[in-house]
Amino acid sequence: MKAVIIEKPGQVYVKEIQYPKPRKDEIIIQVKNCGICATDFHIYNGDFVGSYPIVPGHEVSGTVVELGSDISGLKVGTRVTVDPGIYCGACYFCKTNRGNHCQNWQALGVTRNGGFAEYMAVPYKNVYKIPNSMSFIEAAFVEPVSCIVYGLRKLKIINGDNVLIFGAGPIGLQMAQLIQHGNAASVTITDLKPTRLELAKTLGISKAILSDDKLFQVLKDIAPLGFDVVIDATGVAKVAEIAISYAKNTGKIMFFGVCSPKDKIMISPFEVYKRDLEIYGSFALCYTFYPALDLINNKVLDVKSLVSDRVCLDDLPMVLKSKKFREDSMKIILEI
Ligand SMILES: [Zn+2]
Ligand SMILES: [Zn+2]
Repeated sequence: MKAVIIEKPGQVYVKEIQYPKPRKDEIIIQVKNCGICATDFHIYNGDFVGSYPIVPGHEVSGTVVELGSDISGLKVGTRVTVDPGIYCGACYFCKTNRGNHCQNWQALGVTRNGGFAEYMAVPYKNVYKIPNSMSFIEAAFVEPVSCIVYGLRKLKIINGDNVLIFGAGPIGLQMAQLIQHGNAASVTITDLKPTRLELAKTLGISKAILSDDKLFQVLKDIAPLGFDVVIDATGVAKVAEIAISYAKNTGKIMFFGVCSPKDKIMISPFEVYKRDLEIYGSFALCYTFYPALDLINNKVLDVKSLVSDRVCLDDLPMVLKSKKFREDSMKIILEI
């Protein structure tokens, strides 16, 4: 079968590899769609926790084609999506409901072969049936939305909060839609690219502001005392650094975008103390697949409009190597 393999950082190929044999607790999925995410570019560049060689791809939808010998209650032909996180269930963090911090953490498409392939093996407990009303493309968004649900549940945005999001990429725009649907008084999003801001407006986010030299003043006019919640969805360290200055006293700041592990920013501990700020991180997802599935299925957010490119397996090495795809595209989706 055909698959995309990152042999080691900077080396990616389309190859014929062996069709996976299911272990007794695994199923085989024929992949239909798989989202390409910033993490895949990080794995290609070698600056994330990947193991090599690896078939990347962790935002998968597809159809069950084979069942391991221990599995009952699932039929061949079932349409599914996949939670990529594999937790040991036995360590301290697993036993305290924090599987995303499992001390033996593995993830499909990161440390085990994932969805940039015609078929993939998936542990049965990682599989979620999707309703007939949900397309395979929508199902490929359940994983990123699930990460956002995890982050937003931690943030606990309260009635009447004014929220600022840096970055109108796919993550920023999914987040903005979910927050707008919730109880915020306003959602403001900023980006360097006018096309992204146009898309934000078509998705109902009216305060979509160009990040140019007038940004500071425009944001000051919207929230003279600062925002209750500020989220960095760019993963650009400089943006994460200035995000703090836009928070209101007692405000919350979340670093959601993935910066490079080598990045450092300057924070004044005195400012965090004196202005009574709260700073949050958010890693992956943790038992938030069902709520994400429901949010997409009930059209609380529009994910389809975020798809800018549909590519095939043969295109993927070019996509992973391309600066243009990385910087200019919205959501790139593998279609098989
Ligand atoms: Zn991802
Ligand atoms: Zn564990």
